Amino acid sequence: MAKKYNAVNLGQGFPDFSMSSDLVDLVYTAMKNGHNQYAHMNGVPPLRNAIAEKVYSLYGKEVSPDEEITITPGGTYAIYTALTSVLKPGDEVIVLEPAFDSYIPNIEINGAKPILVPLTFPDYKIDWELVKTNINSATRFIIINSPHNPTGSVLSKADMETLAKIVSGTNIFILSDEVYEHIIFDNLQHESVLKYPELFERSFVCFSFGKVYNCTGWKIGYCVAPRRLMKEFRKVHQFNCFSCNTPVQFGIADFLKQRTQYENLGSFFQNKRDLFKTAMGKTRFIPLASHGSYFQLYDYKAISNESEKDFALRLCQEAGVACIPVSAFYRNGTDNKVIRFCFAKQKDTIEEAMQRLFDFDKRS
Ligand code: PMP
Repeated sequence: MAKKYNAVNLGQGFPDFSMSSDLVDLVYTAMKNGHNQYAHMNGVPPLRNAIAEKVYSLYGKEVSPDEEITITPGGTYAIYTALTSVLKPGDEVIVLEPAFDSYIPNIEINGAKPILVPLTFPDYKIDWELVKTNINSATRFIIINSPHNPTGSVLSKADMETLAKIVSGTNIFILSDEVYEHIIFDNLQHESVLKYPELFERSFVCFSFGKVYNCTGWKIGYCVAPRRLMKEFRKVHQFNCFSCNTPVQFGIADFLKQRTQYENLGSFFQNKRDLFKTAMGKTRFIPLASHGSYFQLYDYKAISNESEKDFALRLCQEAGVACIPVSAFYRNGTDNKVIRFCFAKQKDTIEEAMQRLFDFDKRS
């Protein structure tokens, strides 16, 4: 629709600015150096070693590059593979909604059942009591995602400790979607599952280089899991994609040495969030808190009482700005009159979108 209506696309989550040309050069060099054949199934050793070092320095967790890290074609694939490694028909998986769109289909394709637990509104926090009441002997996984798409909420240390208590003594696995690990704002720390040994021992932790290096089209990521779980993960991986793009892996292995590239990502995107938010302050759109990811939700009740979907369609057609209705992230279409904007855009794009939203608000 954004193309059809020539709208500024703040809908889909992807950066519209250039990725690092240094990383492109490193991949090119890898190609020139002949790294063009199948990679090792688990990922090329230099990349797995570099990830193990990063994990240790960020989260204080020693993971084995040989047995606990597998390179994947993106975070989505890592999530699918983790779920498929474990789930059997009849199993239940707790999904906190609103949720990234691949979780539920990934559960159902395995014959398992998503148990949908809403996050609180408008803070989008986890109601752990509600989670507890939805656990039974069929519960196989709880999926968490921090920083969170679509809401920008983040999990705290207290959340992680509560989760650890809830799963203690059960056979429940954790799928932790941490693709936005570096895109976190307001001096908050990312609470990775990797920091909590009692959680990590039952977790698959999924990451995406597409998000870290502004190259979502490269589809490259990884999963970290303890040995006994990674063994199962690889049984699915072996006969699915088997191995990932070789030169990209060598290029990223080198680039990971430049720590500032990912350390500065939070402040880089926080500036964009704030630029967008300041300009939106001149409209009747009301921001909900965003502490991470590249998304911010806005409440439009002061402008319209249409459904989220109708409003989003009209915004695209009449304002020329594409967004996503948050109801699309709920199976039952929960409608709180909030829409998601992606602010991972260059300054000109944000300013153009702002002018259009400002004009639309004035006309409405
Ligand atoms: N999880 C979340 C929460 C995401 O937002 C995304 C990308 N939009 C992914 C996973 C998938 O990452 P990738 O593009 O590496 O498959």
